[in-house]
Amino acid sequence: MAVIFSGIQPSGNLTLGNYLGALRNFTKMQEQNECYYCVVNQHAITVHQDPALLHRRTRELAAIYLAAGLDPEKAALFVQSEVPQHAQLGWIMTTLSYVGELERMTQYKDKAAKQGDSIPAGLLTYPPLMAADILLYQTNFVPVGDDQKQHLEITRDLAQRFNRLYQEEVFTIPEIYLGQGGTRVMSLQEPTKKMSKSDDNTMATIYVLDAPKDIEKKIKRAQTDSENSVHYDAETKPGIANLMDIYAAVTDTDHAAVEREFSGQGYGQFKKSVAAAVIAALEPIQKRYAELIDNPVLDAILDQGAVKARETASRTYDKVVQVMGLDRK
Ligand code: ATP
Ligand code: MG
Repeated sequence: MAVIFSGIQPSGNLTLGNYLGALRNFTKMQEQNECYYCVVNQHAITVHQDPALLHRRTRELAAIYLAAGLDPEKAALFVQSEVPQHAQLGWIMTTLSYVGELERMTQYKDKAAKQGDSIPAGLLTYPPLMAADILLYQTNFVPVGDDQKQHLEITRDLAQRFNRLYQEEVFTIPEIYLGQGGTRVMSLQEPTKKMSKSDDNTMATIYVLDAPKDIEKKIKRAQTDSENSVHYDAETKPGIANLMDIYAAVTDTDHAAVEREFSGQGYGQFKKSVAAAVIAALEPIQKRYAELIDNPVLDAILDQGAVKARETASRTYDKVVQVMGLDRK
């Protein structure tokens, strides 16, 4: 049995990219493994969050995890700030990190560029906190989207650096787990950029809780090209390639099969089929979400998840403290 950890930030409404790249793999993995899934609210505050909105989105995200099929009997679901060892080990990982390697992270460069002259230091130290999230659970595999590859690499580097420095195998070295498709869903309006929940352009993004008519409208208006032929070329036809990726991911097929299915059909017909397939994939999640969001069971599940997470996290953290000489007795 392997240990699995992953997290999603409550930094906006959950997107189809988050679902296809991350969340849908979480539920597949819970059957055979020891799983910890987290609402990473301390990562979300690396850019300013409105308190009332952050509070609401934390609950919404937890409800979506469950609506997507996460079973709290099989996996621990919890909120990052309720397990203090994350921030505690995060600080220690920060002390092990080099400014140069943090400055090289593409996520840092992208997000810092939007902040003008006052770049929050937390954007720079995001990776050591993420390393702490993962390493606290002695994680073997981290199911994430393609955009997190670099952060997984630095997590491995920090774990190895720590183990070498203190001459003890305190941390398990985790591996990235990328699913079969949908690992990098692109913006519908700028298909060379990834879809993100913090993107202000709502037409660029399909949200997991979008009404069917909005999904139809957004896909209908998605950027394509003038060729009107459904074939896969991510370089010259990024918009169509993205819609083909989305269709393949939600219907569990591949590009070649999508090309065959739509050969001789124009973009109008293809887009209608993509919208129908996305709506069909999201509908059951939306139904379960509506039943869960105001249900007190949500709090009970998060309380229980935090207890389990603290138990595991404190075992690792106590060991770190002892190995580093931070303990007094
Ligand atoms: P933000 O814009 O606030 O960073 P985000 O949409 O990137 O939000 P995160 O909370 O940073 O979401 O990431 C949650 C998970 O979703 C991660 O595993 C990440 O790799 C995955 N993910 C994010 N965007 C995509 C995408 N466009 N395609 C596939 N997976 C994605
Ligand atoms: Mg992100």
